[in-house]
Amino acid sequence: MTATVIDGKAFAALVREKVAGHVARLKDEHGITPGLAVVLVGEDPASQVYVRSKGKQTVEVGMNSYEHKLDADTSEADLLALIDQLNKDPAVHGILVQLPLPKHLDEDLVINSIDPAKDVDGFHISNVGLLGTGQKSMVPCTPLGCLMMLRDHHGSLSGMDAVVIGRSNIVGKPMAQLLLGDSCTVTIAHSRTKDLAEVVRRADIVVAAVGRPEMVPGDWIKPGATVIDVGINRIDKPEGGTRLVGDCHYDSCAAVAGAITPVPGGVGPMTIACLLANTVTAACRANSLTEPEGLTA
Ligand code: NDP
Repeated sequence: MTATVIDGKAFAALVREKVAGHVARLKDEHGITPGLAVVLVGEDPASQVYVRSKGKQTVEVGMNSYEHKLDADTSEADLLALIDQLNKDPAVHGILVQLPLPKHLDEDLVINSIDPAKDVDGFHISNVGLLGTGQKSMVPCTPLGCLMMLRDHHGSLSGMDAVVIGRSNIVGKPMAQLLLGDSCTVTIAHSRTKDLAEVVRRADIVVAAVGRPEMVPGDWIKPGATVIDVGINRIDKPEGGTRLVGDCHYDSCAAVAGAITPVPGGVGPMTIACLLANTVTAACRANSLTEPEGLTA
């Protein structure tokens, strides 16, 4: 079998198009321009790239982008004061604090100081609780992107066996909640899981979010299963230089799977697209307007 490639880049473009349509409608019919504030503390090079890309895509879909760049030694009090100001600002519908934060700042405290209704990353403890209890919440962007691709590929996920490898708060756990919400039978695997290969072999859906290059080989995959590879790992090329690979060994998995997301070009592009989707959703909710269909969980 040769797997269908789930093209995250193309799918993300469709999501952005949908978001842009809703933004235009909000502007034309209600005079509302959704706004996303991104807060970056310090000068981590990878974070700077992400923040630039988020700002650019925000503007491209017609929303307002507000970037707040703070020095690496910014005090917790100053950061919390900025978040308080953004929480109160009616022009700001989504707030994202770029992680990781410098060590002297308490990440949990900072994230939980964001108004849950503006928490477009879905990391606030209220949103985690709402998602866990099957209520309307802001959903973390990466798992939301995975869910959208799975729904698009399969239609209904009901009754499917899903294995999520990884139990982080930003990917593994919310991913498992979303799959459970769509009536999958869900197993969460992690570094202490016994006989991971056997666990993965049972799965109709495998979501790998580990951070270990090419850890999942093709012979762990049930023939015809769908493989969603969240991992982004930079490895050395034998001829020099580097390249990006996922947590799954692409060629051997693609030879067995029914469908697979590539790295790069799979889950990655969906993450920012879902951030934009969450921002337009937040803007609709803030104004008691109908939410866009197909952009939430
Ligand atoms: P974390 O490091 O927070 O979590 C990794 C998880 O993998 C942990 O639960 C860990 O288990 C588990 N794990 C580690 N080793 C093994 C093993 N040998 N067998 C089984 N499980 C194992 O990572 P994240 O969830 O933040 O990210 C995972 C990957 O996804 C990374 O490559 C990251 O770059 C990528 N990523 C991609 C995004 C995108 O936009 N595409 C967004 C976010 C992340 P334990 O809990 O027991 O330690």
